[in-house]
Amino acid sequence: MNSVENARVFIGLGSNLEAPRQQLTRAIEQLAELAESGHLKVSSFYRSRPLGPQNQPDYINAVAGLTTQLSPEILLDRLQAIEQAHGRRRDGPRWGARTLDLDLLLYADRIICSERLTVPHPGLPERAFVLIPLADIAEADLMIPGIGTLQQLLSAVDGDDLERLDE
Ligand code: ATP
Ligand code: CA
Ligand code: CA
Repeated sequence: MNSVENARVFIGLGSNLEAPRQQLTRAIEQLAELAESGHLKVSSFYRSRPLGPQNQPDYINAVAGLTTQLSPEILLDRLQAIEQAHGRRRDGPRWGARTLDLDLLLYADRIICSERLTVPHPGLPERAFVLIPLADIAEADLMIPGIGTLQQLLSAVDGDDLERLDE
């Protein structure tokens, strides 16, 4: 069965190649097609320093929240299809430059640990470029399953290198 009850999910977006802001804007339109109508929220856009190799451009990041009937695995398929449609290549170094990265951060209150999918996303607790945009669209007492509240995680990260961009 591929369809489930409505689930509230959060997706992290990142891009540092080929007009990153436009990549994110277009990806958000595509994410809207996966959402129940009217159930899409998007954070501000932020500029962040890259993880991993430093010889690549800064990233533009955002977080989207949506309600969907897609199962976690089908949602991941759809996210990867959107990455492919944006020309994402998977032949570079870990955390290398990319046109579009879509990470499934949270899927309702689910903890998932399969070959293809770890949810909550393992980077979420320590990444300011995920937590700060997430806080734009989620309540501070949002539970990160198995970890704690969004507020607890936010208080432990340093957002100094993160720049909120104008709308
Ligand atoms: P990171 O996951 O540390 O942010 P990355 O985004 O660069 O690194 P990718 O190369 O985009 O990593 O993805 C590698 C694999 O991670 C994917 O093929 C996918 O199966 C797996 N994966 C596991 N959990 C998740 C998740 N929650 N969201 C997206 N992909 C995931
Ligand atoms: Ca990622
Ligand atoms: Ca990814």
